[in-house]
Amino acid sequence: MRGLTNDGTYCSINSVVQCLYQTRELQDAIRDVDDRDCSRASNRVAVMLKRLIQEMTKDNHLPCNASFLVHAMSAYNGVSYDAQEDSDLVFKCIINALADSNGPASKIGTLWDIEKETRVRCLNCNMVQSSLNRSNAISVIIKQNLPDDLQSYIDQYSDITLTTCDYHCKECHTKTQVEITTRVLSLPPVVCMKIERVQNIGRDIARIVKTGKRFSFPETLDLKYMKEPTVPVDTVYDLYAVVAHNGTPYCGHYTAYVREDGSWYLADDTYFKSCSWEDVKTTYESGTRNGRIAYMLMYRRNTTNTVQM
Ligand SMILES: [Zn+2]
Repeated sequence: MRGLTNDGTYCSINSVVQCLYQTRELQDAIRDVDDRDCSRASNRVAVMLKRLIQEMTKDNHLPCNASFLVHAMSAYNGVSYDAQEDSDLVFKCIINALADSNGPASKIGTLWDIEKETRVRCLNCNMVQSSLNRSNAISVIIKQNLPDDLQSYIDQYSDITLTTCDYHCKECHTKTQVEITTRVLSLPPVVCMKIERVQNIGRDIARIVKTGKRFSFPETLDLKYMKEPTVPVDTVYDLYAVVAHNGTPYCGHYTAYVREDGSWYLADDTYFKSCSWEDVKTTYESGTRNGRIAYMLMYRRNTTNTVQM
């Protein structure tokens, strides 16, 4: 475990890299990536991530530098990263590049893949359209009428209904409101939860706000209400990484809390220190002494009581 230097705006990238570093499924699989294969922009991201992960594994107190990975990410998706990017976009860029690569890294890119069924019901004609889709994160919406703790949120997940207006229904050809519900059909070995703290509440002009409302999450989470009942799979997951943010939606700083060998650490760019689960829990809401608030959670399937097929 090593710190990472921050060349200006790298804190969101550093925080995500620390989470990826703690994903042992990624650490295992990235060894098979061919170091010389930079034939595609996506392969280059995989190679640079492998080199960085290998550097971070070395027993050295000096911090590593993610700039080669950042250059490869820019070449892949055209984002300069001179301005600070949201941790979710950084995660998606790296994971999508791995999935797009044509070597062994492609399977790492699908480690977080969740298959979902989305149902959209037109409130004018009641027509329901359902579609199957994949994503590499579960969005957690912070709203007054929704549960403010992750276990209850997950337990009610398929019942959570989001209403969207200004939808053009293909059936009744009306600009109307729709109700959207989502059901998870498969659970991956690692699950990324994105807590939607930043929202655009503007209509014609964007108005970005960040909510500091309390949202708690456990160290051990049961995703049993998210799985397809016919598939026997372990549904107990352990939290191993948290990306936290302090500051405003426009300006701030990212850090990561990571768990290694059962102990929690705070990774703040070059700085690394041991901490406790109580410290991690301070990211449930704003207003705590360090000002950090959780944006992204990584859970890993607990396989100690593996279900026998
Ligand atoms: Zn309709």
